[in-house]
Amino acid sequence: PAYTKDDIRQMAKDENVKFLRLMFTDLFGTIKNVEVPVSQLGKLLDNKLMFDGSSIDGFVRIEESDMYLYPDLSTWMIFPWSTERGKIARVICEVYTPDGKPFEGDPRNNLIRVLSDMRKAGFTAFNIGPEPEFFLFKMDENGKPTTELNDKGSYFDMAPMDLGENCRREIVLTLEEMGFDVEAAHHEVAPGQHEIDFKYADALTAADNIQTFKLVVKTVARKYGLYATFMPKPLAGINGSGMHLNMSLFHDKGNAFYDEKGEMELSEDAYHFLGGLLKHARSFTAICNPIVNSYKRLVPGYEAPVYVAWSGSNRSPLIRVPSSRGLSTRLELRSVDPAANPYLAIAAVLEAGLDGLRNKLAPREAVDRNIYRMDAEERQENHITNLPDTLHNALKDLAADETMRNAMGDHLYQSFIEAKNLEYNSYRTQVSQWERDQYLELY
Ligand code: GLN
Ligand code: MG
Ligand code: MG
Ligand code: MG
Repeated sequence: PAYTKDDIRQMAKDENVKFLRLMFTDLFGTIKNVEVPVSQLGKLLDNKLMFDGSSIDGFVRIEESDMYLYPDLSTWMIFPWSTERGKIARVICEVYTPDGKPFEGDPRNNLIRVLSDMRKAGFTAFNIGPEPEFFLFKMDENGKPTTELNDKGSYFDMAPMDLGENCRREIVLTLEEMGFDVEAAHHEVAPGQHEIDFKYADALTAADNIQTFKLVVKTVARKYGLYATFMPKPLAGINGSGMHLNMSLFHDKGNAFYDEKGEMELSEDAYHFLGGLLKHARSFTAICNPIVNSYKRLVPGYEAPVYVAWSGSNRSPLIRVPSSRGLSTRLELRSVDPAANPYLAIAAVLEAGLDGLRNKLAPREAVDRNIYRMDAEERQENHITNLPDTLHNALKDLAADETMRNAMGDHLYQSFIEAKNLEYNSYRTQVSQWERDQYLELY
């Protein structure tokens, strides 16, 4: 909502707000909170609230220690779970430097920048409908997550199989209290796995919503003695968790992807955008699948994409065109997982699509057959490549793509690649139980 400063002062007073949680997101997608007493509200509304940014991931440069938080007033929200000692409100902030410039290392600022490029290219909105999936694990007596799932349910199962149902229902109710428009909530294929879909929104709001969503899911799960995780592949042998992104581009006349007369009722713009997504698919993988564990999900046999291809009809490809047309015409990117920083992932796919539009990239033909039944030769004939199979390989592709540098800006691009290479190297030097099980006695 378009709140004014006065609205916010009034709401804080009327609702007895005692604390303000100033939220922003670091390079890795982690939500950061600076909590201040409500006495600081005036300072905050005047963009005068300072914090020390030097200890935040991706912000690390000495001259960046003094940072300012500029609140985005439209994101003001009072948490429904506030205590009796007074309520807690949150507001999402943009990080600014002391000389009043948007800080380039702030992923949200970066998305705002990419969205303004989109408007210069003649579009009015990039809409995103996310489908986040997550697991509910039991917690031990110390409040630590175990690897024990809380149910044995499966896709669209009903209680009593689905013990997570009460918890999921409360998550949905809490989200609704916070202004979310929840469209679907169901048990997923794997035991203990759930999906909650909320209504599409413009890119910035959608990214904010994803962050708020994660916070709500984790907070409510705790009340039920459960630990909610968005880790992409917590258990081997069963499906991992994705976060499919449904995307559409709008201009003054409506949905730019829809054309009654186009092939499959898709517009030229839709095909070019798709061409851009396919061209940059390998290089935005490191952004959309940013952790070592992400690549344990992107393997055959678990409903997650492995190959770079699109289809209007089957469910296995990287990009699917769901059947609805008109205003709901959209492309569904199925590789993204919920470990992705939503601000970076959305900026990356938008920039990839815009590159397709600028250069009129045509996608290869749709692949309506099951790619998993093709052999390597058939895939080659159909020009189907693989997604990167490790974070290491994904980073190589990211580091070679100037369009992705544009999508992130120099600061984020460099710090991301650097930090993620360190992460991969730390993983590479570990010796796992699997290796000991396989080799210790064999050699
Ligand atoms: N969990 C699957 C994934 O990893 C998706 C399953 C589905 O929504 N059809 O992407
Ligand atoms: Mg779904
Ligand atoms: Mg799903
Ligand atoms: Mg989906």
